[in-house]
Amino acid sequence: MSELPPVTRFAPSPTGRLHVGNARTALFNWLLARHAQGRMIIRIEDTDRERSRPEHEQAMLQDLRWFGLDWDEGPDRGGAHAPYRQSERAEVYARHFQELTERGLAYPCFCSPQALALSRKAQLAAGKPPRYDGSCARLSREDAARRIAAGEMPTLRFRVPEDAVIEFEDMVFGRQVFRGAEIGDFIIRRADGTPSFFFSNAVDDALMGVTHAFRGEDHLANTPRQIMLLEALGLRVPRYGHFPLVKDSDGGPLSKRLGSLGLADLRAQGYLPLAIANYLARLGHSFAEERFRDMRELAEDFDAARFGRAPAKYDAAQLLHWQKEAVGRLSDEAFDEWLAEHLQAYAGIAPERRCEFVAAIRDNVVLPQDAAAWMNALLEDALDLEAYRDELRAAGASFFDAAREAVATAEDFSAFARAVAAATGAKGKALYLPLRLAFSGMPHGPEMARLWQLLGKERIERRLARAAQLAERQ
Ligand code: GLU
Repeated sequence: MSELPPVTRFAPSPTGRLHVGNARTALFNWLLARHAQGRMIIRIEDTDRERSRPEHEQAMLQDLRWFGLDWDEGPDRGGAHAPYRQSERAEVYARHFQELTERGLAYPCFCSPQALALSRKAQLAAGKPPRYDGSCARLSREDAARRIAAGEMPTLRFRVPEDAVIEFEDMVFGRQVFRGAEIGDFIIRRADGTPSFFFSNAVDDALMGVTHAFRGEDHLANTPRQIMLLEALGLRVPRYGHFPLVKDSDGGPLSKRLGSLGLADLRAQGYLPLAIANYLARLGHSFAEERFRDMRELAEDFDAARFGRAPAKYDAAQLLHWQKEAVGRLSDEAFDEWLAEHLQAYAGIAPERRCEFVAAIRDNVVLPQDAAAWMNALLEDALDLEAYRDELRAAGASFFDAAREAVATAEDFSAFARAVAAATGAKGKALYLPLRLAFSGMPHGPEMARLWQLLGKERIERRLARAAQLAERQ
């Protein structure tokens, strides 16, 4: 195998937003290229004119950039193999269609979709794998020319020799062997003149110098067709690799909810790109050691030999785990910006208060939503303590009255806690839990000293009074 740096590509169809599955494919191709100082190409597979939209292309590229990927060639930046949109490459395909037709390796097919469906049904009923029955393969050139002249619009089919044997070494699934008889002649140009996926995808890989076509397992059965085409055209065949698809946590197909989960949706929920990258890089692929990595380290430690063949299972808890790691690595400034981007109410708070607030809560926050709860608890006046009535009552109203008295003279939280302990005799959990509940309305969270500072004496006083009230009420 050549030791030249790899050239990989991500080839999305711009028919919607980038979902988690596409993002994973893009990431693997980026990692494969960057691991070995190779190049990455973005190619837009927009041959489906009905469903492809320029705004989807724009949004996909934007999502990829936010995700932390970059590329060396693509529709937005040009390159030696432009154009990078298949809709702009009709002439390239036409040349190759013509060559295959002239050499008798492809032929026009006039079979109607209805006739094809019928033949398919009959073969399935007979327990045979459905393939084209070859009716038009035997038409003479003259007959075909006459029908075209009369206005019929044929598809173009690639002729697959019955005895062809196609073998290749898949990067993940190992040795693969397919037989021509199982495949049958397949369409390379649709009746409307657009190329089929098999054709444009393979021809472009070859012409763009792609060395590794790395994609989901759902394309494995397409690969023998693509290899035959490239060999017939005398074009270079890339190495193919197919990684297992992502399945639901119970092993079934990815549910619609998860399958269509967009990168933009995760972003809107506050997931950080590096959290998503750390998670997706481990869906099907594993690293020698488990630790959080930045993009450079992910590429450095990526190893195409470390793919499993079993389906990868989507696990939201794992994504949260990497999110926690990623959030923990944000600087205070970045953390502050991240919250301000996601929480309007937070963005409205004065900068000095934001600073104190972040210092108090950041270890308790994995998603911006968590900070919203702390904002209610720590920055608003009203606090809902009803849920903890029993705990407050167990401490007793006199406990909170003593605490109220200790507030005024205490210099800091530890002086305050000592004074409450001395006045009430409470210690350990019996001392700290009621205080924590009175301060924040939550049984866990930031260090008490931080809460003390953040809330300020006045607010603490009011909250202790409220706790005393509730403790008394029957
Ligand atoms: N446009 C194809 C897809 O989105 C690309 C497949 C490939 O990577 O070869 O499935």
